[in-house]
Amino acid sequence: MSSSLRFKAVEEANNRKAQSVKLPSERPTEYFGERVFNRATMFRYLPKETYDALQDAIENKKPISRSLADSVAEGMKRWATENGARHYTHWFHPLTDGTAEKHDAFIEHDGKGGVMETFSGKLLVQQEPDASSFPNGGIRNTFEARGYSAWDISSPAFILGETLCIPTIFISYTGESLDYKTPLLRALNAVDLAGAKVARLFDPEVKHVKCFLGWEQEYFLVDESLYGARPDLVMTGRTLMGHESPKNQQLEDHYFGSIPSRVEAFMLDLEIECHRLGIPAKTRHNEVAPNQFELAPIFEETNLANDHNLLLMTLMAEVARRHNFRVLLHEKPFSGINGSGKHNNWSLGTDRGKMLFAPGKTPEDNLQFVTFVANVMAAVHKHNGLLKASIMSATNAHRLGANEAPPAIISIFTGSRLADVLDKIENSTVTDLMGLSGKEEYSLGLAQIPDLMIDNTDRNRTSPFAFTGNRFEFRAVGSSANCASAMIALNAAVADQLNSFHAAVESRLEKGESRTEAILAEVRRLLKESKAIHFDGNGYSDEWQKEAAGRGLDCETCPPKIFDAYLRPESVEMFERTGVFTKVELEARNEVKWEIYTKKIQIEARVLGDLAMNHIIPVATRYQSMLVDNVVKLKSLFSGQKGAEIVSHDLDMIEKISRHMFVIKAKVEEMVAARKKANAIEDEREKAIAYYNEVLPPMEAIRYHIDKLELMVDNEMWPLPKYRELLFIR
Ligand code: ADP
Ligand code: MG
Repeated sequence: MSSSLRFKAVEEANNRKAQSVKLPSERPTEYFGERVFNRATMFRYLPKETYDALQDAIENKKPISRSLADSVAEGMKRWATENGARHYTHWFHPLTDGTAEKHDAFIEHDGKGGVMETFSGKLLVQQEPDASSFPNGGIRNTFEARGYSAWDISSPAFILGETLCIPTIFISYTGESLDYKTPLLRALNAVDLAGAKVARLFDPEVKHVKCFLGWEQEYFLVDESLYGARPDLVMTGRTLMGHESPKNQQLEDHYFGSIPSRVEAFMLDLEIECHRLGIPAKTRHNEVAPNQFELAPIFEETNLANDHNLLLMTLMAEVARRHNFRVLLHEKPFSGINGSGKHNNWSLGTDRGKMLFAPGKTPEDNLQFVTFVANVMAAVHKHNGLLKASIMSATNAHRLGANEAPPAIISIFTGSRLADVLDKIENSTVTDLMGLSGKEEYSLGLAQIPDLMIDNTDRNRTSPFAFTGNRFEFRAVGSSANCASAMIALNAAVADQLNSFHAAVESRLEKGESRTEAILAEVRRLLKESKAIHFDGNGYSDEWQKEAAGRGLDCETCPPKIFDAYLRPESVEMFERTGVFTKVELEARNEVKWEIYTKKIQIEARVLGDLAMNHIIPVATRYQSMLVDNVVKLKSLFSGQKGAEIVSHDLDMIEKISRHMFVIKAKVEEMVAARKKANAIEDEREKAIAYYNEVLPPMEAIRYHIDKLELMVDNEMWPLPKYRELLFIR
């Protein structure tokens, strides 16, 4: 990379104009979902009996017969090929970032030397992808077991490009999950069963509890020429060096600011694609940092919402390229400015239409509301370390617990209104709560909750897990993550908590307590026990870190050790009780987590070493030698005291550059040695810890000194686009 390439890239980026977007002639309501095999389409393409049987199977989680599968496959193929599909694929979510697909054409030999279009129920329902190179943590032994993908009937098939994509789970021959979807479906099932049991204490007609997810996807855009001129962005998704731009987000002028026209064209194009694919994209705006944006859809049931988020991440990358952008989903692509998260707005609701975290109109509704809130608080308290593990990764670690980021501690923000209500309940006696008349009416102020909640304005952006009026927002989730990881841990923990709550209430009822008395007593107990998780203050402050430790919350900061939370007895028991993970699965998954953690840092360390030694040091040396030349020439012109004075500034620079280069070279050596040493460690956990302890610190030092050099070396010579060039789309 020579600096002329950098300037060429900057010029290209600055000259680009907004791309025109091909607007559909129809309105969004007409093309919404046209690439999806949804109910309306199924109704058109499937025989009536097939349609009814499939809906029944979806709603009541029933298995599908072979003949039903054949009939669905036939209709699905007809729809897909009529809409331009030539291939089909089982679309699944392995334990890597993103999704996996292997395409097959809809053709078979016809026995007459030609081919015919076919797609059978067998191919729809199950396939055996040759998946030996997906991460499996040792579960899949390549010679004895294959991976199976199996159709998830609860999420509709869709056409991406010219390929019919069938959402599937991915499991081993012996039934262990090798993906995110399988345990997500299990966790959703667990929270459905447990939630419905508790909801029936209030409404005996409840059959199911549904879980909703509304994610908010934050991302950065970078012009593709500039991106191409930054090997660190290309290889690792983040800048491994780069001095802060003099102006970044300090004027707070980007958040909700007007959207640059190039970006607006990208967003429009993306939204049209989303809507065709049935993703209900609704909100878009600038985020806090320059070049940072957000897209949020209307919330949906969690399994579908998560499929849509994964699909969105694929679409974003594709559409961005049409607009000469690259999308950065990394949690911290640029140091010194905000990182990207993916708030997971999460709620539960009954099949009778009641949202369980929304205050109601009657005391009865509100007793149900506080019951569910208290159970969430208890579950998050009990499993705070696990929830942190569920959102931790090598990339999200830069956003949590690192510089300019909230600490890696899970706490719940309720806001003062809800806190008051909960306090009142916690500190009242049962007789206080029962009306004096002895009837089941209670003077808790429960009736007034809705009015109080409407103005829930004291939102706290520093909280990792916040109550926001009718839902909880799990904000610690990273922008590149598969939301399933957080949703699995959260829903399993809440399901387990609801089960034990239900059992405790039942046993009180057996002892003759009234229903209200029993529920309130248990709610009060939960609120008392889980007090430590409630924190409405500034999560970024140093005091909070000390206080959180004193409260017994998990304050571990080393990601590989944070993953340990999955294997603690209380987690293993919880996951086994809810049927979400077996111990074998948990162990295998942690192996994968440690391995991926190590590999991510390994790649970064390699790229950084190369850039430091092959890009930065040579340029700094060249500039330094120019200064040396200058000193020699000046000295030949001016002698004595005057000469010494004239060259003193250059000499000072020369020395400083030497010192920075010296440290960079020494730290690169130290980093390479640390890597070699760590690579020799067999145990994946120990290896990941060694990367954290020994490889990351020299990387930080290298960056620090390179960023200093960036301020000294002639701008004309600097090889990599600078932050001020990367971060401001015109
Ligand atoms: P903010 O940035 O202020 O938190 P947004 O409007 O960007 O709000 O995002 C809110 C997200 O929460 C949207 O995806 C929305 O659909 C979702 N949401 C709203 N209500 C619920 C709910 N009850 N359950 C789950 N998600 C919800
Ligand atoms: Mg939000």
